[in-house]
Amino acid sequence: MINGFRGSPRYRQPEPRWIDNFLHVFFPDRCLLCREVLPRAYGSPLCNSCLESYHPGGKICPHCEGFYRGLAPCSCLSDNFPLHELFTLALYDQKWRRLIHDFKYKNRRSVARPLGKWLASEIVSQQYCFPDLVVPVPLHCRRENERGYNQSALLARYTAQTLNVPCLHLLIKHRHTHTQTAISRLERFENVRGAFKSIKKSPPVGTVLLIDDVYSTGSTMKEAASILHGRGTRVYGAVIAYNPNLRDLHRSGFYAGLDQW
Ligand SMILES: [Zn+2]
Ligand SMILES: [Zn+2]
Repeated sequence: MINGFRGSPRYRQPEPRWIDNFLHVFFPDRCLLCREVLPRAYGSPLCNSCLESYHPGGKICPHCEGFYRGLAPCSCLSDNFPLHELFTLALYDQKWRRLIHDFKYKNRRSVARPLGKWLASEIVSQQYCFPDLVVPVPLHCRRENERGYNQSALLARYTAQTLNVPCLHLLIKHRHTHTQTAISRLERFENVRGAFKSIKKSPPVGTVLLIDDVYSTGSTMKEAASILHGRGTRVYGAVIAYNPNLRDLHRSGFYAGLDQW
C-alpha cells in the first residue's frame, strides 16, 4: 500500500482531523468529473453517478493498440520498441474531455494532485510497473510560458510523490510544434519527429515511467520514449485518458469485454 491508498477509485481515508472538518465546510471536495460536492471523507475522487459511468482503462499495447490484462506484455511487442507498454486511467469520453480541457487550458491545476495519486494507486494495484523514476512529457517553453504550467509535469510530480520515486525533467521540447488536434494520424507523427531531446548524454538506467495527460495516436509519447530508450532502460507510459479512434477500439475487442472491466 502506498501513502494511504488501498484500491481505487474508492481508497481508504485516514481518520478525520478537526482541521479537515473545518476545511470541508469552506472548501469541500468535489467530484473530478461533474464537480458535485462530495460528502466529507467520501474516499473517492468521483461521485456515485460518475463512478457508475466510469470505464476504467488499464494496460494497452502501444504497438497493436489492444487492451489486455495480466502481467505479461502483449505478444506482439519486442524489447526494441521504445515505448514498452501503456497504462491509462480511463477511456476518453465527454466527461474526461471536459476535465482534461479545463486542466490544460483553464488553469484547473487543482486536479493534478488527485489525478496523480489515483494514477499511481492504479499502477501499483494493477502491478503495471515498478519505476525507478518518473519523467513528464515536456511542453515547448513558449507554450509553457503562455499557459503558466505544464499539466503533465504536475501530474508526474504527484504520481512520483505517491510512488515514492524521484520525478526528473529529463526531456525538453526544443522545437515548437503545431497543435496535434486538427491534423491526421500520419501528420501527427511527422509533426513531433525530432521535437524532443534529453538533457543527459546517456539514457537513464532502469525503469522509467513517462507521464502525459492524453494518449491518442501515441505520436508524442512514442517520440518522447524514443529519446529515453536505450540499453538498460525500459520506458513505460501512463496517461489519464486514452482517446483511440473507434475503429481501433472495435478491432481490439475493448467494447466486447467492457462489462468485465
Ligand atoms: Zn460526478
Ligand atoms: Zn500488441
